[in-house]
Amino acid sequence: MKEIILAYQGEMTLKGLNRGTFEAKLSKAIRHRLEDLGEFKIRQAQSTVFIQPKSDDIDMDEAFRRISKIFGIVKLSRAAVCDKDFDSICATAEAYLGQTLRGIKTFKVEAKRSDKTFPMKSPELCRELGAFLLSKHPYLRVDVHNPQLEIMVEIRDFGAYIHGPKVPGAGGLPVGTSGRALNLLSGGIDSPVAAWCMARRGLALHHIHFASPPYTSLRAKLKVVSLARLISEYTGNCVLFVVPYTKPQEYIRDNAPDVLFTVLMRRSMLRIAKRVADTTGMEALVTGESLAQVASQTLPALACTDAAQSLPVLRPCIGMDKTEIIARSREIGTFETSIEPYEDCCTIFTPPHPKTRPSLEEIEAAEAAMPGLEELEAEAAANVEKIPIHIGDEPEF
Ligand code: ATP
Ligand code: MG
Repeated sequence: MKEIILAYQGEMTLKGLNRGTFEAKLSKAIRHRLEDLGEFKIRQAQSTVFIQPKSDDIDMDEAFRRISKIFGIVKLSRAAVCDKDFDSICATAEAYLGQTLRGIKTFKVEAKRSDKTFPMKSPELCRELGAFLLSKHPYLRVDVHNPQLEIMVEIRDFGAYIHGPKVPGAGGLPVGTSGRALNLLSGGIDSPVAAWCMARRGLALHHIHFASPPYTSLRAKLKVVSLARLISEYTGNCVLFVVPYTKPQEYIRDNAPDVLFTVLMRRSMLRIAKRVADTTGMEALVTGESLAQVASQTLPALACTDAAQSLPVLRPCIGMDKTEIIARSREIGTFETSIEPYEDCCTIFTPPHPKTRPSLEEIEAAEAAMPGLEELEAEAAANVEKIPIHIGDEPEF
């Protein structure tokens, strides 16, 4: 019996003439994500991706787990595949699901016949396959409203597919179909969620992290590497840029009014991020900011931050409560790492009473009084460390 994974395309089916591009990106993502598990034949037809292992020794549990994290797929299921003839369908259904049927009391069969040349219509196929399975498992009952197992038979162009319920996929659009952006990744809860949200809308992402040794430790940096690796299960391989930020940060601390420190620092971080983004053609920045979460995330503070550089700043968490962000971070598997207690450069030197309504005039005046900042920012951007993040690799430290 041959087993296959069926992945059902989501929103991309609405993409009209561009659909080919979306399908190519999706195939590429699947191929790449399964690469080290073995060889698969991947093809797309009728809004579905057919992912078939080329040998019997492939770990299908792991393949399925990985595909469930690929954006562009709304639902997926494992299925047995057989010839489009009724006897094979019956034999395959029994071989594939007989064990499961022995453990339950009620079931139902659903059929979908996209290949209209198949001689039996869907209701007839449901009825006849149901009758066959009942003859094998006489203690079973059909329950059309609330069955313990729903068996699907799909008659497609290339074969017949038999499977249990579909499970939800990651949704969204294939990574890379909406352009490329640079995500500001702190060690916190919000920024990994922000990355996930934007990748889900089809952005290919790299990450940038600001480290200020010795105020921030190697452990803090390793935590960010771990977060980037967790996110890469969704986004694919990426680069984590680590900026040596100590000098610009100390310079701002020593030369600017305390109450403006955080906003000045955030503007400086975004300017550096833009420099790095420009070197690799990234078209936007992403942050985990959420309205009114802290002093630097009030509207006036965000307006000052936005004015620092010209790339769009995407903030998918802006309208989310912390409880929602936490729920999402648990769901995507970053929460436990995010709450490990290491310091972040954003939390060192912060004044006790930062200004919540800074004006752009006072911010620009403060920057005018820091003539050395631009050069320190250029130096930090030039000395950025590039850490390649590959799925499955252990961090090299
Ligand atoms: P997170 O928002 O990730 O939970 P946080 O809430 O401690 O961490 P904030 O101080 O709220 O971080 O910072 C807001 C955003 O600024 C972060 O979501 C992240 O995008 C960015 N940021 C903060 N610190 C850093 C850093 N050291 N390196 C890169 N980006 C950072
Ligand atoms: Mg935050």
